[in-house]
Amino acid sequence: MSIQPVSALVAAIVSFAIGGSVLLREPRRRAHVLFATFTFNIALWSALSFVAKRFDSPMFTWASLLAAVSLPATAQRFFQAFLGDEAGPPPLSRSTVFGAAIFYGILCFSRFIEPVHTTLWFGAAFTAYVFAGLYLSVFYLYRRYRATPSRVEKTRLLYLVVGGFATVTASLAETIPRGPSFGSVFIIVYLYFLSQNLIRYRLLDLNELLGRMVVLGTLVFILTFIYGVLVRWVGPDEQGLFFFNTLLASATIVILIEPLRTRVEGGISRWMFQEKFELSRRIEMLRAELANVIDMRVLVPRVLGALEDSRRITHASIYLADPDGSGYELAGQVGPRPEARFDAITHRAFFERLRRAGVISLEGIEREVAARRTVSTEEQESLQLILRTLEQMNGSVALGFSSEDQLLGALVIRDDRLREAYSSDEIELFRGVANSIGITLQNSQVYERMKERDRLAALGQMAAGLAHEIRNPLGSIKGAAQFLQPGQATDGTKESTREFLDIIIEEVNRLNKIVSQFLDYARPYRGEQRPLEVSEVLKKTLSLLPAAQLEGAIEISTNFAERMPPVRADAEQLLQVFLNLSLNAIQAITPGNVPGKLVISTGLRRATRRGAAAAFFEARFRDSGVGIPPGDLKNLFIPFFTTKDKGTGLGLPISQRIIENHGGTIEVRSQPGEGATFTVLLPIEADAYAAYLDVTRVDGPRRTPTLPPPPPPSPPPLPPPVRLPPPPRPTRRTPPGTLEGFPSSAAKDSGRPPREKSKLQPP
Ligand code: ADP
Repeated sequence: MSIQPVSALVAAIVSFAIGGSVLLREPRRRAHVLFATFTFNIALWSALSFVAKRFDSPMFTWASLLAAVSLPATAQRFFQAFLGDEAGPPPLSRSTVFGAAIFYGILCFSRFIEPVHTTLWFGAAFTAYVFAGLYLSVFYLYRRYRATPSRVEKTRLLYLVVGGFATVTASLAETIPRGPSFGSVFIIVYLYFLSQNLIRYRLLDLNELLGRMVVLGTLVFILTFIYGVLVRWVGPDEQGLFFFNTLLASATIVILIEPLRTRVEGGISRWMFQEKFELSRRIEMLRAELANVIDMRVLVPRVLGALEDSRRITHASIYLADPDGSGYELAGQVGPRPEARFDAITHRAFFERLRRAGVISLEGIEREVAARRTVSTEEQESLQLILRTLEQMNGSVALGFSSEDQLLGALVIRDDRLREAYSSDEIELFRGVANSIGITLQNSQVYERMKERDRLAALGQMAAGLAHEIRNPLGSIKGAAQFLQPGQATDGTKESTREFLDIIIEEVNRLNKIVSQFLDYARPYRGEQRPLEVSEVLKKTLSLLPAAQLEGAIEISTNFAERMPPVRADAEQLLQVFLNLSLNAIQAITPGNVPGKLVISTGLRRATRRGAAAAFFEARFRDSGVGIPPGDLKNLFIPFFTTKDKGTGLGLPISQRIIENHGGTIEVRSQPGEGATFTVLLPIEADAYAAYLDVTRVDGPRRTPTLPPPPPPSPPPLPPPVRLPPPPRPTRRTPPGTLEGFPSSAAKDSGRPPREKSKLQPP
């Protein structure tokens, strides 16, 4: 069998399927019905031609001509409807109607009287009539192409004009004896393209469609090649070999199809749709990044930054729902600032639609406005309102993110350079970003609630601790003041009066210290960090340690690594931390374990930070003091936890806060009776670390020999925020007397961290 009848049969079946699929689609419009009529006409003509050629039947040849007479009319009717859309097609051109009538007449004459349809003159005239009619349809498209002002519409029409012209010409070429027989293939591809034009309005979707067709075509070509190669040499009587080779080819194809498809698709989309390929890559990266973000303050700029970097938007904004859901606030934007707030009630039409549909696009709404001229004014108004809201948001596409039926916010984008800037697939990609924002938003809300709960719990704990710390000195002051009152049973000597006044002054100082330290702890960090040599700060710390505490009782030695990289830090604040740790170590050495030792050493710790190689400066304070029981270890950094008579329990929490503000941490290791080691870790900047590596690669690190304890300066110049050792004070108890109004038991029950010794015990 020659190729022509087969291709006619394929064209018949496929045209019928294409027409049927458009006809079955809802909502069915006039243009859909006319398209189906046109395709069925082609299907009928192709089927009759197939039978005529296959069986060489004059009767079917005649019938196929009969089917072909109506082709110009059905084509023109469809194209007119297609271009005029809902407005209704204008009447058919007179020459088409006239020509059809003449040819119907001649064909009837030919059938029943004289078979003139087989003559050459009839063939030429008939072909001229049908093809002139079809070219006329293409001309309608061309005329519209010339007249349309929209660039997007122009491109779309250009595709249709070129495709139509090529298809009609290829079919015309097929009528020439021994001419090329591509007509049917062109018809199939063009009809499919037309049907997609009817279903998908967007030009970019058609671009993608073209891409998919190219992918399919390439795949079919490759697979045919595999079959061809394997089945080619099989002779007609070698059935076994034929089946074996077909099996082999099928197996090869089954194995190859997936990777082949991915490769062909990847290659073609990179070649044809570079922009979309790039966008999907960027969005994938962004979504992976968003998986680690929990804070909306971080997320919003990151999303907007990534969208801006993709260069696919000129405007983008993110709106988030108010806590009470009364409106949507602008959380961030790229490009000119749109309106900052949209009331949920005033813009209900917009937000309700966004919640239901997930996406609102300017073109979609405009198309609806155009298509629904006949619907109620109420519906028209709501569409207009949606358009206005989108305009006020500076967007052409809005993508909503919801949770349990509630709209949490919207991502609004626009590319000012193009009216129809995003294809449906690209909108799907942006939708993925909106979904990720929604998930992060929900996570961040849960996280914020948890943080707030923790904050309230910590606040309660701290308030209880502070009250306890204040109440004790107040009790002492009150007791002392009562004893000083005239008529009290004091011995009245100057000595005892001074003692009670000393108590009052000392307790007021203590109160002042507690309040200052508390404020230190609560105040937000406002230091200035610059690169510095940490060992210099450590040396200064040593020079500030009170001499009286050290004499004979404690031996301090140092072991500083040399040529350490500088660390970006606030010297004053580091000094405060180091002094605190040193004093704690000194105070942990009790008369029971003298002479004690404090070793201060430095070093470098290599680690990873957020998956990247990093290095930390280590400053270790190792003492031979009493050590810390395991139960206390976890409480060390809780404000007001202290085991000392005169401690405030704020030294370590303040130190921790300072080090955390530097991006570092404090580690503690201890065993009761075996001393404790506090290690301060400060991050080293990448550049400084790289420079350090360069230097040490040549020379290798060095250490300074152990230094003898530095001579204590007298008097030591103490910086203001530094925690000082408690001033010497006579050993005494709270004066006997009533402490009404300051019950100490209440504070103990208040849930504050454990405290081993209470500072003042009423007798
Ligand atoms: P304070 O020194 O006012 O008690 P800190 O916050 O500095 O407050 O310390 C809290 C507690 O941690 C101390 O009371 C002590 O029990 C414990 N501690 C801190 N450093 C050491 C150390 N080097 N050895 C043993 N215990 C320590």
